[in-house]
Amino acid sequence: MAKNIQAIRGMNDYLPGETAIWQRIESTLKQVLGSYGYSEIRLPIVEQTPLFKRAIGEVTDVVEKEMYTFEDRNGDSLTLRPEGTAGCVRAGIEHGLLYNQEQRLWYIGPMFRHERPQKGRYRQFHQLGVEVFGLQGPDIDAELIMLTARWWRALGIADHVSLELNSIGSLDARASYRDALVAFLEQHVDKLDEDCKRRMYSNPLRVLDSKNPDVQTLLNDAPKLGDYLDEESREHFAGLCAYLDAAGIGYTVNQRLVRGLDYYNRTVFEWVTTSLGSQGTVCAGGRYDGLVEQLGGRAAPAVGFAMGLERLVLLVQAVNPEFKADSVVDIYLVASGNGTQTAAMLLAEAVRDAFPAGKLMTNYGGGNFKKQFARADKWGARVALVLGENEVANRQVVVKDLRSGEQQTVAQSEVATHLQTLLG
Ligand code: ATP
Ligand code: MG
Repeated sequence: MAKNIQAIRGMNDYLPGETAIWQRIESTLKQVLGSYGYSEIRLPIVEQTPLFKRAIGEVTDVVEKEMYTFEDRNGDSLTLRPEGTAGCVRAGIEHGLLYNQEQRLWYIGPMFRHERPQKGRYRQFHQLGVEVFGLQGPDIDAELIMLTARWWRALGIADHVSLELNSIGSLDARASYRDALVAFLEQHVDKLDEDCKRRMYSNPLRVLDSKNPDVQTLLNDAPKLGDYLDEESREHFAGLCAYLDAAGIGYTVNQRLVRGLDYYNRTVFEWVTTSLGSQGTVCAGGRYDGLVEQLGGRAAPAVGFAMGLERLVLLVQAVNPEFKADSVVDIYLVASGNGTQTAAMLLAEAVRDAFPAGKLMTNYGGGNFKKQFARADKWGARVALVLGENEVANRQVVVKDLRSGEQQTVAQSEVATHLQTLLG
């Protein structure tokens, strides 16, 4: 027999048992976004390869080794999006949404990176991203952080995430810091591992977030990014910290926090957790004031972040098991006897008309009452509606509370009212 075809490594199926919690988490996130007046934007999953090379940077991990790039039938080089910001900026420029305008946008969907799959790290994963254009003050940076903090409270995980914050300054300030850092690293090449040596010239700031403890010790003596910041970036950062202090949001300034993508300037931040092992960054972002112009638009300030939904779901499940998915079925309709199946189907439709919030499943495939009640239990229904030949003849139905076992016979025209009372 032919071998079964399996899913691609690192690309997950999300089965019915899991999608319910995903839905509840997503609806919580969207509700909060709505409460700040942000709008959804829906973008293609595939873009032209040069978009990512130009936006993310040629010598980043993502572009160097993680992209899913292929030629389509016309010979064009296309890439499955590894992140959402580049496409969002591309769309904003293409549709004239960015010049002299404010936009507060969010998107949700799959991203693709060819990484080594492990807990919290997959090849197809999902991000919810937020991007704001046209605002340059630290107030909007602070609002994005307040919005994320509101998410954590709504999901009951606020005690399990912490905020790390840094400013990486203007592009010029970064360039002069880069020179100083490279000069320092050159004096200590013997203490660097292969990865750091490779990055020393291509992307030296990434050496700062090396996971190697020896490198981290060495970096204690390295020049500090904070000492190279331009005056305006310094003021911007002080402004952001003041807003966060006023809002009562705690943070740690981490001078070694740099982001993996090239387009950031000034503010960068990450929300991290210690509850997920080594894939501890749940949400990360910052300012990218140069990107719109770099991609061919008229210059527009911008700030945003992306959250990894798999990590968020894992975290909610790990630290707040109370946050449960809504039930799939509240009401299970059982029927047995001649002519009862048609009556059951019609009654089910009438109940859905009168009580649209109820989740009603009709029994199909027959079976005696005992079997049908077992199915009601399996689906976790709280109420059973029971139709036999007598009930059909009298246009009645038995409403049974499956928790207390209490039941009563009611007119079919009244059943929605009874259900509403029972289910709240
Ligand atoms: P990491 O340090 O984990 O490699 P990153 O710096 O590459 O993250 P970003 O590009 O900033 O991540 O993406 C934002 C968020 O998306 C991350 O903080 C994380 O929650 C999530 N994320 C990134 N890559 C993956 C992946 N391969 N699988 C699952 N989630 C991911
Ligand atoms: Mg990464």
